[in-house]
Amino acid sequence: MINQTMYQRGAESSVIREIFTYACERKEQIGAQNVFDFSLGNPSVPAPAAVRDSIEHSLAQLTSEQLHGYTPAPGLPATRAAVAASLNRRFGTTYAAKDVFMTVGAAASVSCSLHALVNPGEEVIVIAPFFPEYRVWIENAGAVCREVLADQETFQIDVAAVRDAITPNTAAVIIDSPNNPTGAVYTRENLEALAMVLSQANGAREQPIFLISDEPYREVVYGAEVPWVPSIYEHTVVCYSYSKSLSLPGERVGWILVPNTMPLADQIMPAVAGAARCLGFVCAPALFQRVVTDCVDEPADVEAYARNRETLTRALTEYGYTYVEPDGAFYLWVRALEDDAEAFCERARTFELLPVPSNSFGVPGWIRIGYCVSHETIERSLPAWKALADTYK
Ligand code: PLP
Repeated sequence: MINQTMYQRGAESSVIREIFTYACERKEQIGAQNVFDFSLGNPSVPAPAAVRDSIEHSLAQLTSEQLHGYTPAPGLPATRAAVAASLNRRFGTTYAAKDVFMTVGAAASVSCSLHALVNPGEEVIVIAPFFPEYRVWIENAGAVCREVLADQETFQIDVAAVRDAITPNTAAVIIDSPNNPTGAVYTRENLEALAMVLSQANGAREQPIFLISDEPYREVVYGAEVPWVPSIYEHTVVCYSYSKSLSLPGERVGWILVPNTMPLADQIMPAVAGAARCLGFVCAPALFQRVVTDCVDEPADVEAYARNRETLTRALTEYGYTYVEPDGAFYLWVRALEDDAEAFCERARTFELLPVPSNSFGVPGWIRIGYCVSHETIERSLPAWKALADTYK
């Protein structure tokens, strides 16, 4: 008998991917320009020129073995050193290459962190609405996913609700700021309040509650401060990826930082390595580790997303939609115009609009619009958003 849990995971697939697949089919039928696919977080902004320069330089200079051979399991020493040095420049820290473990993107970073930090049967708190794969990764680590609603006005962490959800079995909390799906950026005060609650809970425990800070959107912000979480709560592991900041989601490259300021760092890094080994996630792509070495300080190009955000929010306000003002990431979290978000998305589909209903993010009644598409797609979609709203009047 095959593994039924895995069968189930594969058969159910992800709602976001299902909508994306539908969009591809529909584009074949009626033309790409007539389908408004807001499902995936696939950046439309091209990767920076520095990425191409780095690849061309590697192709010209390196041997096949250097280009395509295995790297050490945790990554190339030069890449790990470059990541640590970049963080040190930006956050005034003193990290070293050994504190960085290169991964195949944030999915692997979070999965490895969970396997390293959490034992089967323990609980991991997520802040709802949350990135749907968190539940899959938590349960794959044998742990229990505990959902805690974000503050429903600001979509910051409801720290009192987190405090109430902590049990002796709580092993970790995952946060994701700038947030997918709401676009909220957790403020310093909010993170300090969370740190206080976790520290208070730790007083009565043998092992601290770990914070897993999943930060693939760190650079995608529109002016807000994104505080450095390990400087606020010492038991924090940071998960990162270049999927969004450098528009490289198909290349699968990111990292886990186990800060050397973390009291249990010398045990956690080997556990991360063990998790990567057990999950088969060793050796991030060699060529793209070299790209990271060369482009580690390359700024993310957020201008196009800022423009999309401006055009979309201005128009949706005019049509009567309400939404959370996004400070970061490239998602707009909009109230569905009826209680049932799935029914709303079905109706949106008749206008060729393809947002994602909020149910899979752990809450009812909202939709997520991924505005990392071209500005032209945003503009062309506006009459459809208006016509959709008009059907509810
Ligand atoms: N975490 C969050 C919050 C995400 O939004 C995503 C992707 O959209 C991931 C993790 C996975 O990122 P990656 O493609 O780098 O594995």
